[in-house]
Amino acid sequence: METFIAKRLIIRGMVQGVGFRPFIFNLANRLSLKGNVSNISSGALINIEGRAGDIESFCDLIPAQCPPLALITDSSIQNVSFRKFKEFSISASSIDNDKTGMVLPDISICDKCVSEMLDPLDSRYQYPFINCTECGPRYSIIEDIPYDRHKTSMKQFKMCETCLSEYTDYKNRRFHAQPNACKKCGPKLCLYDRHKNIINTKNPVKETANLLKSGYIVAIKGIGGFHLAVDAKNDDAVKLLRQRKIRPDKPFAVMSFSIENIKKYALVEKKEEKSLCSLQRPVVLLKKKFPFSLSEAIAPGNCFTGVMLPYAPLHYLLLQESFSALVMTSGNISGEPVAAKSNEAFEKLSDIADYFLINNREIIHRSDDSVIKYISDSPAFIRRSRGYVPAPVILKNNVPQILACGGDLKNVICLTKNNKAFLSQHIGNIENPETFRFCMETIKHMQSLFNIKPEIITHDLHPDYLSSKFAKKYASENTDIVRVPVQHHHAHIAACMAENMIDGPVIGVALDGTGYGTDGSIWGGEVLVVEAGRFQRLAHLAYIPMPGAAAAVREPWRMGIAYLYHTFGDDFFDFGIPFLQKIDTKKVKTLIQMISAKINSPLTSSMGRLFDAVAAIAGIRNNITYNGQAAMELESVSSIRNKKLYEYFLDNNEIVSIDVRPMIREIVLDLEKGIETGIIGRKFHNTLIRMLADICSTIKKKTGLNRVALSGGVFL
Ligand SMILES: [Zn+2]
Ligand SMILES: [Zn+2]
Repeated sequence: METFIAKRLIIRGMVQGVGFRPFIFNLANRLSLKGNVSNISSGALINIEGRAGDIESFCDLIPAQCPPLALITDSSIQNVSFRKFKEFSISASSIDNDKTGMVLPDISICDKCVSEMLDPLDSRYQYPFINCTECGPRYSIIEDIPYDRHKTSMKQFKMCETCLSEYTDYKNRRFHAQPNACKKCGPKLCLYDRHKNIINTKNPVKETANLLKSGYIVAIKGIGGFHLAVDAKNDDAVKLLRQRKIRPDKPFAVMSFSIENIKKYALVEKKEEKSLCSLQRPVVLLKKKFPFSLSEAIAPGNCFTGVMLPYAPLHYLLLQESFSALVMTSGNISGEPVAAKSNEAFEKLSDIADYFLINNREIIHRSDDSVIKYISDSPAFIRRSRGYVPAPVILKNNVPQILACGGDLKNVICLTKNNKAFLSQHIGNIENPETFRFCMETIKHMQSLFNIKPEIITHDLHPDYLSSKFAKKYASENTDIVRVPVQHHHAHIAACMAENMIDGPVIGVALDGTGYGTDGSIWGGEVLVVEAGRFQRLAHLAYIPMPGAAAAVREPWRMGIAYLYHTFGDDFFDFGIPFLQKIDTKKVKTLIQMISAKINSPLTSSMGRLFDAVAAIAGIRNNITYNGQAAMELESVSSIRNKKLYEYFLDNNEIVSIDVRPMIREIVLDLEKGIETGIIGRKFHNTLIRMLADICSTIKKKTGLNRVALSGGVFL
């Protein structure tokens, strides 16, 4: 005889406002189980009664088949006494008391909504704000929790009768879909010229498409902010956008209607296709197909191009007007945060855009598009923002409530609570006053949204960073808070460990451009042993002066000269390599005087600067207009197959100093022999890999550690 049992399940995580209760309702009915489901503060509570075997299947099927937006972080189950439920029901009673710490990210439009929107017989035909419980804006429209319509920027739109009946029917796909709207009751589009004059048109989308086809630049309000759009095939339009945005070379992201369209100009592997089609719809860096069928000005000198699929209904409507691709770059003045409010867009972007396609749904939390790149089989974030934020990174253990202030250049802040780390959207360079304000605003919003009162504030060890100064001020104003400065590369490796739920100690290889070291010099080519709260430096690139400090970052030729001088002394002047022939000898001499006299030439072990030096010496470029440009262009030419290596030297000191002078010597020899830049680049990459593997295996022998964590911008 079969046993009948009664259980109570608590499902924690992001399960509210995602169609979770209707899913449970249907699943229980399918298995002939009785009971009820309701929302509670931390997630959902399920009372379930029935045959033991069916309840077992029920429990297995919840994680396996739950709605795509639901994120179950943890669950518990207990035996309870029978209440003899007659049926399975959804209890909506606790909906008003929800105080969940989980807020959903903005999610791309779902297939069902796309097909409704493209169906001439549907009431939401061509409606650019269509959504349901499985899709649509979330974080970008929320003012406060609980996530309910009156606490979102949808509150100004009163639902019509039809929308309301969908919203209140738990069998409907739009049950409690907070942004639910239709043509009659929801947000609307309006097209303006740059002087804020309304363009009279019945179909603003079609009109915008026509403008784009004619080569105009249009600022388009999206989910997390404005995009600046141009036709990606129109070379003149792309160049005009570069000129007006004062962004000479940094790649632009493009958006295409479908994977098939993308495959016409880029190589798409299965794993990349999966990410492109994911609910988060990030920009994925793909290898270009040659000849490249879009404008060369989109990603000049780069073998990768950043591509995404449409994620807002409006994107589909625009792209179906027969574009191969649209450039969709963040609508901001370089260095400032992306514009999110309409008046802000007019104020900031009217020198760039010719037209503005605007809507009257307010963006509460702005965020840029996320960017990922595959490193072998794993996706790595270049930018974790729209679509992912504010979903937490789940930690292995509970931690105190911490506010981590991030660095200054590509700032992201983080708040922790229990076993969750809430990372903010990409904030940017906070040396820019607007961006600094955005950072402050984000800290405040996130603290209030997740109800976090930090016990600890952490910041970069760099004493002059604005983020460090802010942390000091914050700690002085909140005397019960503990302030902890953290070394930059220690933080890199610790973050990698946290993300992968790994306890230390590990060997950490942190390679990037700039990080303030414990000895006051600029680190960036570091091999460390890291345990959660401490680290030991075991190897680093040999120190070299950075003549001109920040200028040496913008002008890779300075690092080229520094490495040549470091390797050859004064002898290098007579080398017959193109790099030296192109630079004014006077400038070179001044630079060497700076190095010798130690004027404005801080010491660095930065891997980013070594890439710059090699790129310059190899003749790739002497100056850059965006971060990492020289290294990316060096990588782009290095795809040639070649297994050869250059020499390097590792000393026997307790902290190994990595001497790359033998490599620089051989690179110069190769250049004198006229060896192709691509081969030199390839050999350089091979050498770094071998060198770091060598160091790691030496450390393994010494310490017994056999796990390596890799982190830092150089890996991207
Ligand atoms: Zn939908
Ligand atoms: Zn309606």
